[in-house]
Amino acid sequence: MKTLLPEPYKIKMIEPIRLVPAVERKARLKEAGWNTFLLNSRDVYIDLLTDSGTNAMSDMQWAALMVGDEAYAGSRSFERLEAAIRDVYGFKHVVPTHQGRGAEHLLSKSWIKPGQYVAGNMYFTTTRAHIELAGGIFEDVIVDEAHDPRAEAPFKGNVDLGKLERFLDRVGPQKVAYVAIGCPVNMAGGQPVSLENMTATAALCRRRGVRVVMDGARAVENAAMIRAREAAWKGRPVAEILKEMCRQVDAMAVSAKKDAYVNIGGFLATDDDGLCESAQNLCVLFEGLHTYGGLAGRDLEALAVGVREMVQDEWIEHRLAQVAYLGERLDAEGVPVVKPFGGHAVFVDARAFLPHLESDDLPAQALAAWIYEACGVRAMERGVVSAGRDDRGRNRRPSLELVRLTLPRRVYTQTHLDYVAREIGALHRRRAELPGLRFVKEPKHLRFFQARFEPVPARVGAA
Ligand SMILES: *Cc1c(COP(=O)(O)O)cnc(C)c1O
Repeated sequence: MKTLLPEPYKIKMIEPIRLVPAVERKARLKEAGWNTFLLNSRDVYIDLLTDSGTNAMSDMQWAALMVGDEAYAGSRSFERLEAAIRDVYGFKHVVPTHQGRGAEHLLSKSWIKPGQYVAGNMYFTTTRAHIELAGGIFEDVIVDEAHDPRAEAPFKGNVDLGKLERFLDRVGPQKVAYVAIGCPVNMAGGQPVSLENMTATAALCRRRGVRVVMDGARAVENAAMIRAREAAWKGRPVAEILKEMCRQVDAMAVSAKKDAYVNIGGFLATDDDGLCESAQNLCVLFEGLHTYGGLAGRDLEALAVGVREMVQDEWIEHRLAQVAYLGERLDAEGVPVVKPFGGHAVFVDARAFLPHLESDDLPAQALAAWIYEACGVRAMERGVVSAGRDDRGRNRRPSLELVRLTLPRRVYTQTHLDYVAREIGALHRRRAELPGLRFVKEPKHLRFFQARFEPVPARVGAA
């Protein structure tokens, strides 16, 4: 196993964490309806629920908070953010939003006419919700390998150009609002898209007169994986690859809570004057004036600094190395994990971990619950619960049934990762005794956030 290079930072401020006793974890899990989203943070030891807004800011970001300009309109902080985004991503227009789904909302409302399609490389929960809220229909055009947790291809996030072309032929380009490329693909295990594939997708769309949009929540991680895996870009600076990715698309919706080391924020960026005007106008309605978009001046400042930090190679290199380290440790423990490892998380294959459970036993939801009960580590389901129901009310059954162990940026050390791998390894050795779950409460929208469950005792120990 590779050793991990030391963290490229030292710790200036600490926040205590505590492993609550096993009996208490059992009680807390029951109170939370076996949904890790409903646990209280104080009862969690190592929190790998998400990397969204859970990042540690740098000394320079904390310092920037103090110069936040809290003017309602036209603040200096917005000017600094706009300049940073123009420099780093290369787009002309920037519309700030409170977080990524705010940007998705403005984009979907601006560009989707009811009944139009959006084709993309696998759905993302909030993205598809906003597409559907605007009257659109999502069509998946990702490569087949993305659905196979065992396939070891370097770019499992790629758009399948054949699928996309056949889809455009079938419905006609005028029925397609835009093609959305997620880089990397969160729901497929954080798998990246190659620049070659992005360029070819953009060229095909341009020929057919269809716009292309990037979901850029973790675009820097995608750029770093291109640098590691794509021959033509080997060793190039991540900053340069990121700009080249952005050159391929007409617009980008970004959750700044990921790459940019902040705790809240998002934005829509584009060169398209019409989209900018529409998004700025909708921003006033749903987010706030178009120069703050639901954020405080200090948030804009921290984000402006974070956007410049995120493309510094040493940070992103260490992040990818941390994810790979945790993945290799779990693999060595015999835990089934999705390979190759992505940029933000290690994904455990819950179907392979709990082969005695049926899809209706919600294996990934159950595994996330049993991981918390066993060791106080909080993870997240990415399977049948996250996928929700289709327009006829039937459960969508995704090919992947995963538990995501997500690493917040600059928060945990190697000893934390060793604990996680060791404990999940021990749980795996007693997997046969772990039961499934069933719904007792199922909310209408994005059900995974607020659903409640209970164990299915009848199936305990079933073959
Ligand atoms: C997090 C995320 C979003 C939504 O962003 P929020 O800031 O959570 O609203 C959209 N797309 C992807 C790929 C994400 O990971």
